[in-house]
Amino acid sequence: GFKCGIVGLPNVGKSTIFNAITAAGAESANYPFCTIEPNVGVVGVPDPRLNMLAEIVRPKAILPTTIEFVDIAGLVKGASRGEGLGNQFLGHIRQVDAIAHIVRCFDDDNVVHVDGSIDPMRDVEVIQTELNLADLDTVQKRMTRIEKQAKSGDKKSQSELSVLQAVQQCLDQGRPARATELTDEERLVLRDLHLITAKPLLYVANVAEDDLDGRHPYVASLREFAAAEGAEMVTICGKIEAEIAELDDEGKAEFLQELGLDQSGLDRVIQAGYRLLGLLTYFTAGVKEVRAWTVERGAKAPAAAGVIHTDFEKGFIRAEVIAFDDFIRCGGEAGAKEKGLMRLEGKEYVVTDGDIMHFRFNV
Ligand code: GDP
Repeated sequence: GFKCGIVGLPNVGKSTIFNAITAAGAESANYPFCTIEPNVGVVGVPDPRLNMLAEIVRPKAILPTTIEFVDIAGLVKGASRGEGLGNQFLGHIRQVDAIAHIVRCFDDDNVVHVDGSIDPMRDVEVIQTELNLADLDTVQKRMTRIEKQAKSGDKKSQSELSVLQAVQQCLDQGRPARATELTDEERLVLRDLHLITAKPLLYVANVAEDDLDGRHPYVASLREFAAAEGAEMVTICGKIEAEIAELDDEGKAEFLQELGLDQSGLDRVIQAGYRLLGLLTYFTAGVKEVRAWTVERGAKAPAAAGVIHTDFEKGFIRAEVIAFDDFIRCGGEAGAKEKGLMRLEGKEYVVTDGDIMHFRFNV
């Protein structure tokens, strides 16, 4: 599965948010959740398109696609030098596909801040510095390893070295590896290094109950910073989410309405985390179940079939495909078929987000 790591300084609300995510999943039959390890949770990705499909198909079950959240504790100042849970922490974070960085934007005298005061921008810098240093270390180690071959004229090592030098320069300026200007081909060179600051990142502002409108200066400064980086920011109140997590679906809806919100902060974090992964969702829509599936961008029909079952991929013959808007507009499969909007696609078909697919295969 695809993983989104939750990072941040101690006491910023990581566990509170992680626990609320897991509780939310456990509550609702629509959004299955299970714990793999104490700090890893699988949660359903809310997608309004599922309900639109269900209204037409009237299935027995609705199943969202899922994403894994990993609560990564232990990032403190000095982690890159092995302080705190240092290396262990960095090992965990290298394995995730995307990062949600929780930033404390709430005042609360009862909750100690590791640095004694609330300052979101300072906190962000502390974390970024540690991650940058960890990546610099990785890059430098790799450079040392291939230097000799590059000097002796090995073309592949030479081109890798020049990519690494560009990344090193970027990191040295305090910028993330992801900000290095590289071609797609050059980026491939970096893949096996699992650089932390090359992963897509999202900021989560954990605000006080009264500040969900996002106008507090703490949040405003973080928003500005995120925008300059081209990163997304989601505002959430961990305390409220913890309360919502205790409610049933009906109570939750009422509570959100009272607060003037159409969606919980968690749902927004889950959706933003999923978007961050840059994946595609396609659907299967039958009376037994309407279900969302995840594939990588650029995936072809057989690979999409393989997400359901490896046999579907091995024996793939063709796919019947209806675009999401066509399916809704025509009131379902029969209507779309009548209007000639159901396409038969072969092995080379590249899946489009929202496709409703039905696979034909040999067993
Ligand atoms: P972690 O160390 O980042 O995992 O932080 P925790 O989730 O354990 O939270 C640290 C403390 O802050 C706990 O006592 C939480 O109850 C509290 N906390 C978390 N989110 C909020 C919030 O939005 N508002 C307030 N006032 N307290 C919060």
